[in-house]
Amino acid sequence: MQRISNYINGELVEPISGAYLENFEPATGKVYSLTPDSDERDVEIAVEAAKRAFPAWASKSPEDRFEILMRIADLIKRDLDFLAEAESIDNGKPKSLAKQVDIPRAVANFRFYATAAIHFGSESYETVGQAINYTLRQPIGVVGCISPWNLPLYLFTWKIAPALAAGNCVVAKPSEITPMTAYLLSKICIEAGLPAGVLNVVHGLGSKIGAAIVKHPQIRAISFTGGTKTGAWIASQAAPMFKKLSLELGGKNPSIVFADCNYEQALQTNIRSSFTNQGEICLCSSRIFIEKPIYERFRDDFVQLARNLKIGDPLNDSTQIGAIVSKQHMEKILSYVVLAQEEGGRILTGGKRFILEGRCEEGYFVEPTVIEGLTFDCRTNQEEIFGPVVTLQPFTDEEEVLHYANSVEYGLSATVWTENLSRAHRVAHKLESGVIWVNSWLLRDLRTPFGGMKNSGIGREGGFEALRFFTEEKNVCLKIN
Ligand code: NDP
Repeated sequence: MQRISNYINGELVEPISGAYLENFEPATGKVYSLTPDSDERDVEIAVEAAKRAFPAWASKSPEDRFEILMRIADLIKRDLDFLAEAESIDNGKPKSLAKQVDIPRAVANFRFYATAAIHFGSESYETVGQAINYTLRQPIGVVGCISPWNLPLYLFTWKIAPALAAGNCVVAKPSEITPMTAYLLSKICIEAGLPAGVLNVVHGLGSKIGAAIVKHPQIRAISFTGGTKTGAWIASQAAPMFKKLSLELGGKNPSIVFADCNYEQALQTNIRSSFTNQGEICLCSSRIFIEKPIYERFRDDFVQLARNLKIGDPLNDSTQIGAIVSKQHMEKILSYVVLAQEEGGRILTGGKRFILEGRCEEGYFVEPTVIEGLTFDCRTNQEEIFGPVVTLQPFTDEEEVLHYANSVEYGLSATVWTENLSRAHRVAHKLESGVIWVNSWLLRDLRTPFGGMKNSGIGREGGFEALRFFTEEKNVCLKIN
């Protein structure tokens, strides 16, 4: 059975404990590889390696770092097929999706930040007649990056690329549930000639090594993407140590469909925004609000399209819905379907585990599920489910739908469907979300600030925001006379 290794000080190494965790293929429900069950001793060695590597890496010019990061991007691109298959096996997502979205985005993340660091600048102010102030933006030192299982390589590289481009050395932890592509990336980094210790990848449990990274006094900044509860715990540990913190957390995203929308576009895109990646994208819409005049028509068409989605072996090209990432997560999703019914919801389609024949007969598949008849404030409509489950709710006017949309503790993303330009601006202005799409979904420009408000997190990733996060400002005031 394949054993994944840690990547510490430029080498692929076993965990000090010698212990491994079973890694499951969600589509088959079978163990297919072993992940290091690392502990704080491995984190300690990784931090030491990162500290040693820091002075040389930090003093390289952005152009020199660009060369290496672009080489990594090229190698990810070279291995696109292989990495897409690995991601699909590890996570359960359709291989076609990993090939079109996850792995190309990992390439783009490295390219974007390799070049962004070259263009990055800082402010300068003249205190007229007296002084010039200029701000240095220097790398922080050793930083920690912790990422989740839903978009494994995509989100892992979204953190480490800006951290490295800004001149930091990194101790990173991918989700223990999906460690494979982070391990394959380690091999690519060795091939690309990334100096030893600049990036260290430690595999294992969040409660052990995630916590060790968060608590380590020499790791001065933490970039975390994951659940709100974990984020709150991390904040409670990091705040007394005055660490810099970027938290990208959960969501319960509304999609607001006005009667004057481009109907076909709204319908098709809502299917994508509800069920892509089995609904396991933090930006997926999970509450669809539909203006009353088109409610029945939209509901019936939406349900029909959801029913037609092809659930299947993630490795088949025709599969649109793959497996849920773990048995535990599948059970959580199904428990919400039970809750929805207890709360008075009607299941219009789906609601059950889907059993395939052959290779995937024990896989963790859940039917795309559409529910109506719930109140906006019930638990099903307030809590993050993070699966292929959406609710439909009619609304009468803007005021009402804004009240519904903003009623949750989260504020990550929202989509608005209308051909009325003034309404689009008005509603976008009033929505409590960090990312708002009008007449689209997941249309990303990497230069834009990305992140949530309320319990969806603090700080923003993307563009120069991430380079600002991963640098320490120092103002120098120079008296003129
Ligand atoms: P978790 O919060 O469970 O885990 C995220 C990462 O943190 C994993 O690597 C996990 O390790 C680690 N971790 C767990 N406990 C600790 C701890 N005490 N200290 C440090 N690290 C820890 O989230 P999931 O992996 O379940 O991811 C799903 C969540 O991520 C959803 O809520 C989703 O909305 C959110 N998300 C947010 C995004 C955003 O941009 N806002 C994007 C994508 C997802 P391990 O896996 O070993 O437990």
